[in-house]
This record gives sequence, structure tokens and C-alpha cells, in this order.
Amino acid sequence: MDFKSIRLFLFDMDGTIYLGNNLFPYVPELLRIIREQGKNYLFMTNNSSKNIDGYVNKLKSLGIDATRDDFVNSTNVTIDYIHANLAGKKLYVLGTNALKDAFREANINVCEDYAEDIEGVVMGFDTELTFKKLDDVSKLLTEKDIPYIATNPDYVCPTEYGYVPDCGSVADMLFNATGKRPVFIGKPEPAMPLYAVEKISKERDPLVTKENTLVIGDRLYTDIACGINAGTKSLLVLSGETTQKMADESEFKPTEIFKDCSVLLEKIK
Ligand SMILES: [Mg+2]
Repeated sequence: MDFKSIRLFLFDMDGTIYLGNNLFPYVPELLRIIREQGKNYLFMTNNSSKNIDGYVNKLKSLGIDATRDDFVNSTNVTIDYIHANLAGKKLYVLGTNALKDAFREANINVCEDYAEDIEGVVMGFDTELTFKKLDDVSKLLTEKDIPYIATNPDYVCPTEYGYVPDCGSVADMLFNATGKRPVFIGKPEPAMPLYAVEKISKERDPLVTKENTLVIGDRLYTDIACGINAGTKSLLVLSGETTQKMADESEFKPTEIFKDCSVLLEKIK
């Protein structure tokens, strides 16, 4: 494919532009050239436990100057979904204080305790999870047939030493207790890239479409799958958790596979 025709680049972060706390050396030049060519990029994350400022600071510490506008996360898209489908409803939020703050800023009616008149449940990746929250949600989902949504289906989230359970794992615990599964919003669902295409085409570049948008990531079943589901182009990089063998055996076929983003840099120059 012709990488020079791409107008919007949607980057996954860990495994794609850095690994843990190490930025890949070609990334600053890649981002600079995209901007110099009058094109756009955004960083796209499923993680709803931190607010965007946490990512701005993380990238700053690695030497990348980013602003809040350079990110799309599953929190933004979940807020959009709530406004479209659950507007004005009283929602129990199982998530971090950062997630609840972001919802309140968006005028969502957030509840933190069980109540009979709650009209929906929203779950995020909750690094402040308590048994009380599991108890509250189990009771709500058992007693009522109400909308139940979750920010992201990931089973695990990477840490310095390995992984911790993420939103998808907690959803499984609640399924075991209640028999109910949430509607997931983040990758591999198409909502996040579609949100990014709409935002950038409205705010910065009217020529941006799904067809000239490229999702770049290191995970087949989230990054690449969401690009395929959204109808964008997709680029798998082998600088993170996926090997060529895994790619060969996967049902998810990206538009292209590169060893890392340094090849993308050469292709767009
Ligand atoms: Mg990744």
C-alpha cells in the first residue's frame, strides 16, 4: 500500500512507540515528519484507569511533547457512547476516581453506591477495585435488567514485572457471579478509530476518511482487529508482543506487517 496517502496515523503506545520506559529511537523523527507533511497522528489507548494527563506526562518523560488533544482513549469514546445511548441516566460506575471525574466533567450522573433507582452500570479498568464495588454491581446485575457497558475487553495490562488483571478479567468475574456480560467499547471494537476519524476530520483536516487512516499497533486481537472492524488500514509492528509466527497463524490480517515503526518512517519520507 501507499503509505504517503495516509492522512491520519493512530498509534498504539506500549510495544509500538515505546517498550516500558524506553522510547524507540526513530519515533521523534517519525512524529515530526508526519506533522511537517501537514498530516495528523493521535495516540490511542484502551486504558481507562488513568486520565489523559497521566499519558501526557509519561510521553514528556520519554522526550515527546504531547498535549491532551493528541490522545484518544476508551474514556472519551465511552463518554460519547453514554451521551448517545444513556443520556441523563443514573449510572453506577465501577472505575477509578480519574474515570469518575472524567464522567462528571462530561455531566454524567455518576453513582458510587448501590441504589434501587440506578439505570445502568459502567465499568472501567479499575486499579482501585474493592470488594464493595463487586458486591454492588453483582446485586445490580442480578436484580435488574439494565444496560451494562465496559471501557475495554483486555484481560491483562502490562506492568514493569509482567501483568495485572484488566477490565476484561473483572468482567469475567462478574459474569461468573451474574451471568451477564457488558457491551465493550474500546479496541477491538471499531468505536475508537471511528471517533478519531470524526474528530480529526471535523477539527483539523476535512480530507481525513477511514480509508486514509492507519491504525498502528503490536497486538493483533485489539489494535489490528479494531482497524479491520472500523474499515481503516492497519499496520502490525513486531516490536511488542507479537511475532511473525503469531501473525501468520492469526485470523486478523493487517494491511501490512513491519518489524517496527522505523520502516514506516522510511515509507512516508
Ligand atoms: Mg501495545
